[in-house]
Amino acid sequence: MTLERLYAEPHRRFNPLTGEWVLVSPHRVQRPWDGQLETAGTPASLRYDPTCYLCPGNQRAGGARNPNYSSTFVFTNDFAALKPDVPPAKQDESERGLLLCESEAGTCKVVCFSPRHDLTLARMTVPEIVSVVDVWAEQQAEVGSLNHINYVQIFENRGEIMGCSNPHPHCQIWANQTIPNEPRKEQQSQQEYATKYGACLLCDYLQLETKAATRMVVENAHFAALVPFWAVWPFEVLLVSKPHTSNLGSLDPVMRERLADILKQLTTRYDNLFEAPFPYSMGFHQAPTDGEVHAEWHLHAHFYPPLLRSATIRKFMVGYEMLASPQRDITPEVAALALRNLAGTHYADLKPR
Ligand SMILES: [Zn+2]
Ligand SMILES: [Zn+2]
Ligand SMILES: [Zn+2]
Repeated sequence: MTLERLYAEPHRRFNPLTGEWVLVSPHRVQRPWDGQLETAGTPASLRYDPTCYLCPGNQRAGGARNPNYSSTFVFTNDFAALKPDVPPAKQDESERGLLLCESEAGTCKVVCFSPRHDLTLARMTVPEIVSVVDVWAEQQAEVGSLNHINYVQIFENRGEIMGCSNPHPHCQIWANQTIPNEPRKEQQSQQEYATKYGACLLCDYLQLETKAATRMVVENAHFAALVPFWAVWPFEVLLVSKPHTSNLGSLDPVMRERLADILKQLTTRYDNLFEAPFPYSMGFHQAPTDGEVHAEWHLHAHFYPPLLRSATIRKFMVGYEMLASPQRDITPEVAALALRNLAGTHYADLKPR
């Protein structure tokens, strides 16, 4: 069977990072991607919102007042899910690991990308995004250097559909004592690959994707954004650094500028897909800060957008997906083609207002 034929039929794909499989059912959507448009969600129109707890000068729910910041602003979450001063404890009443629990120390921070309430990464300039990358790199190094912190997770929820009711451009940093599930699985896979082949999993993978070009969305000299072969979400994207590097803290000024550039390129295309602000959860995966070298770790980011064929039709992970395995209809190749063919200029700049 040819590859083309195989891709046209139901098949499953292995994710070497997690060791899990995703079922692909392209036959469920026989027609090719038609760029159907359904606009939903309007961009925030206020530059400053007096009721926003992230805008400069405003009071937060916890009582603290934001400074009149002019670029980025970082603060410890007033209602953090993790806190640093947790007495260490471990318990298992069953003594068989059936009721095992462990204390978890950590911290949660919020990073405002800009004082402007109405901006998004796609609408910010590359130098403005560089300031955000600088904060990520600083925070990664600073928070990661704390004794009780062994993993730093930077993530952004964008859009109400993702449970993010505040449009003010911001992300969160949750850092904790243990390495969470997803990076832990990925670490194991990267370690196993390195041991078996004496090479980096994502360096090797990126080489294949560059050669194939079918799943590539955008790239520059130092980063590539692609729909991974094993993608679960319709427009899922994996953002990978081209040089092998393990964390954001180690990026030099040129790499930081290139990361800002690819973030703008990708988020612009996301917005252009349905000509609406595009919702997603994104986050970086990088080497743990547990004092080990972690040469196996390759810096990358995942973008998980919940949308299916329009800005209003959402993909739910229910039924078979909750109980058995994720499943997708349009293939990663079709999704990548759709994203790749979009204009690199934001729709809001192309249309007369
Ligand atoms: Zn705001
Ligand atoms: Zn690598
Ligand atoms: Zn990852």
